[in-house]
Amino acid sequence: MTQEPLLQIQNLHVRFPVRAGLLQRTVAEVKAVNGVSFVVNKGEAFGIVGESGCGKTTIARAVLRLVDATEGSILYNGDDVTAVKGQQLATFRKKVQAIFQDPFSSLNPRKTTKDIIGEPLRVHRLVNGNDVNNRIKDLLELCELPARFAELYPHEMSGGQRQRVGIARALAMEPEMIVCDEAVSALDVSIQAQIINLLERLRKELSLTYIFIGHDLSVVRHLCNRVAVMYLGRVMETAGADSIFKNPGHPYTSALLDAVPNPDPEDEAGRHIEPLQGEVPSPSNPPQGCVFHTRCPQVMDKCCQSVPPLENINPNHAAACWLNEA
Ligand code: SF4
Repeated sequence: MTQEPLLQIQNLHVRFPVRAGLLQRTVAEVKAVNGVSFVVNKGEAFGIVGESGCGKTTIARAVLRLVDATEGSILYNGDDVTAVKGQQLATFRKKVQAIFQDPFSSLNPRKTTKDIIGEPLRVHRLVNGNDVNNRIKDLLELCELPARFAELYPHEMSGGQRQRVGIARALAMEPEMIVCDEAVSALDVSIQAQIINLLERLRKELSLTYIFIGHDLSVVRHLCNRVAVMYLGRVMETAGADSIFKNPGHPYTSALLDAVPNPDPEDEAGRHIEPLQGEVPSPSNPPQGCVFHTRCPQVMDKCCQSVPPLENINPNHAAACWLNEA
């Protein structure tokens, strides 16, 4: 696979003000994303995982330019798109599409499938007026739905079928990158597998690049080439999917992996990390030092004072933990 960067996130910070009182003065800040950097190469599926509140969805929204970066930059194909507006933003948004968790709320309940998929085709004049219906049929076929689905409303379809329509709508814009924000989390396990296989096939056939936001590590492992593990707005570990799942280099990643149900009883002997205790601290008041130290089973004195840098522990495998210090 090519190592040509498509998306470069550099020291991204996203902070939201907390307002209170009659005058709605800013009394605090939620540090949703706190100095995150990563690169997504053309043609790869890059996974971002972590518990609720870790900042992964805010990163997705920042990449889609649905929220503004407070600091840092977002480069797409080498161009800085962090603050582009107007036509430049419209061009960027055509190239980067999204698939959301709940297809029922992301599809207009008053429109049929052919209206939902046809709208971007007409608005952006992607095909001639006479060819719109043929293109809709092709997109449905690409997403393994029969042509008769063009006449159905969202409430007449199952969750998996609605998500296929959501994917077809994203593909209508002929994107280069798709941000999948918990795209299969609301689906039954058997349907999840079908949608994951569909996304994988589409990535290969259409040379797409994915950012896949999820909390189910088994899904992320199946789909993604590389993974970033996030906690409280920071990247704790990033590596190739195989490397991170076989040799985690951060206690938080180990705890997440430990929480995945293991169907192989003979593998139980290999599990020795303590289960993760406690709640994620508030992102408006993150702990000093390593942000994971309040829950880390291997915490040391140094962890409470100094932030561990995200450094290579192996080629192409970086972790932010003082345990890896030489
Ligand atoms: Fe745990 Fe310390 Fe490593 Fe943070 S730096 S993950 S607290 S051992």
